[in-house]
Amino acid sequence: MLGRDSADAYQALVSQVSQSISERFATVDRPWTGITPGELGPAVAAVDLDRPLPSFSDAFDEIGDLYLRDAVWFHHPTYLAHLNCPVALPAVAAETVLASVNTSVDTWDQSAGGTLIEQRLIAWTCERIGLGPDADGVFTSGGTQSNLHALLLARDEAVEQVLKNSEEPMRGVEVLPRLRLFASPHSHFSVVKAARLLGLGEDAVITVPADDRFRMNPAALDAAIETCRAAGLVPAGAVATAGTTDFGSIDPLDSIAEVCAAHRVWFHVDAAYGCGLLVSPDRRELLWGIEHADSVTVDFHKSFFQPVSSSAVLVRDRASLRHVTHHADYLNPVEALSPNQVDKSLQTTRRLDALKLWMTLRTLGPAQIGTMFDRACELAGEAWEYLDADPRFETAAPVSQLSTVLFRLAGADDDVHRAAREAIAAAGEGMVASTRVEGRIALKLTLLNPETTLGDIVPVLDALARHGARLQQIGKESA
Ligand SMILES: *Cc1c(COP(=O)(O)O)cnc(C)c1O
Repeated sequence: MLGRDSADAYQALVSQVSQSISERFATVDRPWTGITPGELGPAVAAVDLDRPLPSFSDAFDEIGDLYLRDAVWFHHPTYLAHLNCPVALPAVAAETVLASVNTSVDTWDQSAGGTLIEQRLIAWTCERIGLGPDADGVFTSGGTQSNLHALLLARDEAVEQVLKNSEEPMRGVEVLPRLRLFASPHSHFSVVKAARLLGLGEDAVITVPADDRFRMNPAALDAAIETCRAAGLVPAGAVATAGTTDFGSIDPLDSIAEVCAAHRVWFHVDAAYGCGLLVSPDRRELLWGIEHADSVTVDFHKSFFQPVSSSAVLVRDRASLRHVTHHADYLNPVEALSPNQVDKSLQTTRRLDALKLWMTLRTLGPAQIGTMFDRACELAGEAWEYLDADPRFETAAPVSQLSTVLFRLAGADDDVHRAAREAIAAAGEGMVASTRVEGRIALKLTLLNPETTLGDIVPVLDALARHGARLQQIGKESA
């Protein structure tokens, strides 16, 4: 146990672990070994969890084989796949602190300064967004939870309005099937999942068409809300995405805000990906209109270079957070006067993830974080131009507003794309993602590493083209 008498043991363990991990970081020469579940599964299954090893060192060696050797390294310059970032050093050090102290930031009497640190960062983020004097929020486990939380508030505000205006006595649950949410086809799947968890039913999320740059059409949102009203349904909330996961496209926040205000519909902005723009020296204006939001999702573990988890949900009116407040006699009784973050959270026991962002801001400052994200966005532009100019490739979407790049191997079908992507990962030549654009598979780069250059990306593209050509040849021969 970490306690009064274990100071030496603690130091020895932490330095053993940090030495070993730093050696790995210094020597890892590819983002992944490409191991399969079939290869790794038996070794993990063979571990007898009821029979411990003689020492921590033995256990640490064991995870070297079971986990670290074949881990996926997001810091590697040829990791170009998903929305994972290399992590800021001050944040990693802070992670050790918060794990050791093991603060739980649910009540004042379990966190003290931790609660104040979280509250300052929430206030700082609200101010960066421009949410006004009554804003508040809370850290969450991720964008999925932030979206769920925000849409819960939208749901309960809408239900309250309906009950208030209803002439006959009604119960809240009777209103739920009539509620509708609105989002573009490119919004994150957690929106639909949240609707289901919130009891709104399968058809609750209405898809609002997007333009050819993958941004929601505000006039179509306006029409969809009208149609709902006319059908006796209750428009409860619109979700604008500030950085779609696939395209990095940003819905026109300002126009959507106007539509929402005109219809008195809750305006949620999912900025899980694009939140880094809040500190960007060059690109802040892309978030123009976010200040009108009723709620905002930010994922610091994406564009703020924080270790998982670090995310928050912010609201314009702190009173709306009452929908998740519950007073438990043992924890936060009604008469308690202390600031208790549990009053605002879906979670109870909760990590002091805020400490990581705090240490990062206090060490690097916001402008440096923003510059790092700007660099990733710039690189996406460079990669797009390279692909556009090279006849082996075709771009599958216009240049991104953030840091994704969608492209295809010229003349290749879905199977070739799938196989080429797997081939480069298995060979340790790099990692890219894939998605569907207009029904066909496209390859995707998601760039979040400020140290990656076009010189790192080009060999990965060469490898894709080489595997692609080989696979197409095999396809022709067997046809
Ligand atoms: C990643 C992402 C989410 C989900 O966030 P998690 O932290 O993975 O739960 C939600 N919305 C968007 C737009 C995202 O990119």
